[in-house]
Amino acid sequence: MKKQVFLLPLLLLLLCGCQQAPQESSTQVYAMDTMMDLTVYASTSEAGEQALHAAETEIYRLDALLSRHDESSAVSAINKSNGTPVAADEEVLSLLKTSVDYFQQTNGAFDVTVAPIMDAWNFTGETPRVPSRQELDQLLTLVGSDRIVFGDGTVTLEEGMAVDLGGIAKGYASDRLAAVFEENGVDSAMVSLGGNVYARGTRPDGNPWRIAVQDPNDPSAYLGVLLLTDKYAITSGGYQRYFEQDGVTYYHIIDPKTGDVARNGLTSVTIVCDSGTMGDALSTALFVMGYDNAVSFWQSYSTDFDMILVDEAGTVYLTEGLKDCFDSSLAEHEYEYVYLTKN
Ligand code: AMP
Ligand code: MG
Repeated sequence: MKKQVFLLPLLLLLLCGCQQAPQESSTQVYAMDTMMDLTVYASTSEAGEQALHAAETEIYRLDALLSRHDESSAVSAINKSNGTPVAADEEVLSLLKTSVDYFQQTNGAFDVTVAPIMDAWNFTGETPRVPSRQELDQLLTLVGSDRIVFGDGTVTLEEGMAVDLGGIAKGYASDRLAAVFEENGVDSAMVSLGGNVYARGTRPDGNPWRIAVQDPNDPSAYLGVLLLTDKYAITSGGYQRYFEQDGVTYYHIIDPKTGDVARNGLTSVTIVCDSGTMGDALSTALFVMGYDNAVSFWQSYSTDFDMILVDEAGTVYLTEGLKDCFDSSLAEHEYEYVYLTKN
């Protein structure tokens, strides 16, 4: 009996000693028009490399499916509908239906049918331009997610209409990466797909991940650090893709009601939540809504989430749930931080 009492701690000590510290593996991927950083911690570097390879494969698969600039993608096939039903696979149909749900829930602020308007602005091309009011009014007749018709495994768009999943695809991709990591036994990882961060589990030392939040008014500075475990932190900001003309900055988030760049006083919106897809759709939508509507939306939305809103004056608004997971001590400028409550 006595022997067992001494043997047990010895055995535990030996087991702990044999267990290797998790190995870090990381890679960069350029896809979906953005640079993506992926870091995983796994029991061996081989296991980490294998998980990263699976993640890369998944990202390229989604890019090939959802890109509207790739002529052979499923989304391009849908965009050639011209009034006739197009067969689409279940995954694309499901993401499109989810997008239409967000259109309904955000009172039209999130609208994937802004594609023809995006083309007119040509943000991603070599020659972006400011379309005339007349041109935008003409193109607005092709906008409205409530006009997308779903059939049995098909989708129909009216002639001239097109969809652009750029406001939701990276968030969806981060959800898919969560599944890939699960399949590969990785429970500690951090990925950043452009402005879309997914913090899986904790850091190997058991502490939360630290995610710096950029100052949209001075993107070289940080306005604080989010401390997150198993969360998505997804940012939409005018500073992420833009061009300047005659001293005015034009950026890639469009108000679907006007066809114009969404200028409602906000310079960035970060959503912190449990779903990449939701975070991505809402970050775009709340940016379009502006401060008042974004706060009302947060107060009444059916699913809880947290957010950080930054306005043109540089005030940082944070929802109350972030109080214990936001560290402003290393911020590079002085900011006014205001906490928002639900009542
Ligand atoms: P994000 O960076 O997630 O806010 O998404 C911006 C991208 O979403 C743009 O590059 C467009 O492809 C698309 N987009 C722009 N405005 C909207 C909108 N109001 N609703 C849905 N997608 C949009
Ligand atoms: Mg988005």
